Amino acid sequence: MAQSILIVEDEEKIARFLELELLHEGYEVEKAQDGRKGLEKAQSGRFDLMVLDVMLPELNGFEVLRRIRRESNMPVIMLTARDAVMDKVAGLDGGADDYMTKPFAIEELLARIRLALKKRSAQDAGEEHVLSCGGLTLDTLKYEVRYEGKLIELTHREFELLRVLMENKNIVVSRDTLLQKVCGYDYMGETNVIDVYVRYVRAKLDEVYQVKMIQTVRGVGYVIKDSEA
Ligand code: CA
Repeated sequence: MAQSILIVEDEEKIARFLELELLHEGYEVEKAQDGRKGLEKAQSGRFDLMVLDVMLPELNGFEVLRRIRRESNMPVIMLTARDAVMDKVAGLDGGADDYMTKPFAIEELLARIRLALKKRSAQDAGEEHVLSCGGLTLDTLKYEVRYEGKLIELTHREFELLRVLMENKNIVVSRDTLLQKVCGYDYMGETNVIDVYVRYVRAKLDEVYQVKMIQTVRGVGYVIKDSEA
């Protein structure tokens, strides 16, 4: 089912442009030209995300945001005037998920919309998109692994290995499970391939930062442990 987006924007040209771009991307789109109509539509609960201009007739964008936040956690991306730093701060404080400064690049807005929708569906599914363990963080949306903030470059399979271990923090994961999750169920190659990936990850993580993140449980598999746990 297509996701639906509400555009609350009084400048007809911008609203129309946004509508066409979003329709082109496969979203369902509705528009509202003032804050009051925008709020009414948003309250219907029919929308997955709202693009909300700050300067609006009837109710301004902050007021619409404040009122919708009483009843809904729908993602909201605010459109603010150029260099209106206070607007950005107020928008984010008021519970906006993101903001764009006008004039904006449509590609960037589309990317932020995708990100906000993804984040929300991950939250709805009860999944955290940033896994952490000690100084290690793994962002499943950005595909980034960091140790104490420093980026670690991993291959796809090294990343997946670490993801499975971090999703099962403090729980030993067997080699068979790792093999299936990292290499796929129909993997027919060497079964010690997991040991090889663990070695690669250790070389990029444990050895560089002088830590012991991935522990071997002899005869069973591997575990990543939170030292505070
Ligand atoms: Ca406006």
